[in-house]
Amino acid sequence: MAKKKAEEFQKEKEIFLDHIQKAGLRRTSQRDLILEIFLKTEEHLSSEDLYWLVQKKDPNVGHTTVYRTLKLLTEAGLAREVRFGDGKTYYEHHYNHEHHDHMICTECGKVIEFFSAEIEEWQDKMAEKFGFKPTHHSLRMWGICAECQARESELQSTPSGAQPRVRVKSMMGN
Ligand SMILES: [Zn+2]
Ligand SMILES: [Zn+2]
Ligand SMILES: [Zn+2]
Repeated sequence: MAKKKAEEFQKEKEIFLDHIQKAGLRRTSQRDLILEIFLKTEEHLSSEDLYWLVQKKDPNVGHTTVYRTLKLLTEAGLAREVRFGDGKTYYEHHYNHEHHDHMICTECGKVIEFFSAEIEEWQDKMAEKFGFKPTHHSLRMWGICAECQARESELQSTPSGAQPRVRVKSMMGN
């Protein structure tokens, strides 16, 4: 782990412990483990995803504990909830992470993170136009990623796709 990463990790741990104390909760080795695995995974995780990662390290940790810890992480400002329209709630790192928006592939579920200063500016202008005071936003685009598009066009150009036409031709010839 790089030095800067390690320092950041330490800071996030402190924030979490501080939050737990303020909430009147005990520090437990299970919560520590969940926090550690969450911080080490740079992905969008559902509580189910995180549960399975935690299970590999400690099978005694229950799903409810994982879910509750994720809620605590969110309250502490370390995690952020994101939804991609599949009915699940995902969590991503929030502390010291720049704002970004998401593109979601409806074929393979891949999530692409992006940031555009121009889009952000236009959003602010739109809000201003309507006298709207935005507190936060989440811009999401659904569609098909480059890999899935390539796979689809490959499938379409295979000879099997042309077979029915050949068959029709020969039937007409008989
Ligand atoms: Zn944005
Ligand atoms: Zn895809
Ligand atoms: Zn994200």
